[in-house]
Amino acid sequence: MIGLHNHSSGDIFIPDEASLENALTRTTHLAIGAHSDDIEIMAYHGIVDCYGYRRKDKWFSGVTVTDGRGSSRVGPYSSCSDEEMIEIRKVEQRQAAMVGKYGAMLQLGYESSVIMEKSGQKNLKEDLFKILEQSSPEIIYTHNPADKHDTHIAVLSAAIQAMQELPEEKKPKQVLGCEVWRDLDWMPDQDKVLLDVSARENLANALVSIFDSQITGGKRYDRAAVGRRYANATFFHAEGRDKAEQLTFAMDLTPVIYDDSIKFCDYVMEYLDKFKSEVKTNIENFFK
Ligand SMILES: [Zn+2]
Repeated sequence: MIGLHNHSSGDIFIPDEASLENALTRTTHLAIGAHSDDIEIMAYHGIVDCYGYRRKDKWFSGVTVTDGRGSSRVGPYSSCSDEEMIEIRKVEQRQAAMVGKYGAMLQLGYESSVIMEKSGQKNLKEDLFKILEQSSPEIIYTHNPADKHDTHIAVLSAAIQAMQELPEEKKPKQVLGCEVWRDLDWMPDQDKVLLDVSARENLANALVSIFDSQITGGKRYDRAAVGRRYANATFFHAEGRDKAEQLTFAMDLTPVIYDDSIKFCDYVMEYLDKFKSEVKTNIENFFK
C-alpha cells in the first residue's frame, strides 16, 4: 500500500484486480476530481483515449476526493441518509470505472468541509503526492481555476501543490484545468487547449448516465455534459464546417508546476485580463 490517509468512506477499486502499485505505475492519464462524476464530465478525453481492448500502453485512472455526503437528494433519493448517499455514490463511481475500463479508481473519502481547512489541505496534498509519485502520469486532468464550486478549487489547490513538490522527473508533461462548474469558452481562442471528445458518444453517455443519484436526483448532467461538448465545437469556429463534432476546452496549467517563480493567481488573472481586453476592444470599435 502506498500509505494514504485513512477515511472510513474511502475506496480503492481496480477493475482488473491488479495490485494498487501496478495499477498506478501503468497509469498514463490521471484525473483528479472533487466529487464522483466530476471526472466523467471533465476528463472524458482521457477516458476515451485509453479505452479499448488492444490498447495496453495507455491507462486512465481516477481520483475522487470527497465522499458525497453533502449531495442534494430529491425524488427516490430524498429519504437517503448521508451514510446511504455515500454508499450509493461510491458504488456509482465504481461502476463508471468498470464501464470506462479505468486502470484504478481511488475514492479518498474526504468530507468536503475538511479539505477547505488547512490541515485537510495538507493531508490531501500528501495523498495526492503519493499517488502522483507512484503513477507519474503523462497528463493530468483536474478542475479549472475559474470554476465556481469552492470544493473544486480546494482540490485544485492541493493537486497543484502536490505536483509542484514532485521531483522534476516525476512531474506530468501536461496539466489541464477542465470544465465542470463553468466552461472555458471565455478564454482567448489561441489559449484554449482543445480536446476532441467526438469519439464513442455511447461511452460518454453511459459514463455520465451511471450517476443516477445525481440525474434522477434532479440534475441532468447527462444532457448538459454532452450538450456542452457539442456547443463548444460548433461555437468555436465561426467559419466553415465544424472541425470536431464535440470539444472540451481546458486551461493549460503546466507552467505553474515547473516554474516556481509563477504565482498561480497571477497566471490565471492573465487569461482573465486577455478576455477583458478582447471584449473591451470589440465594444470600443463601435461605442466611441
Ligand atoms: Zn464536483
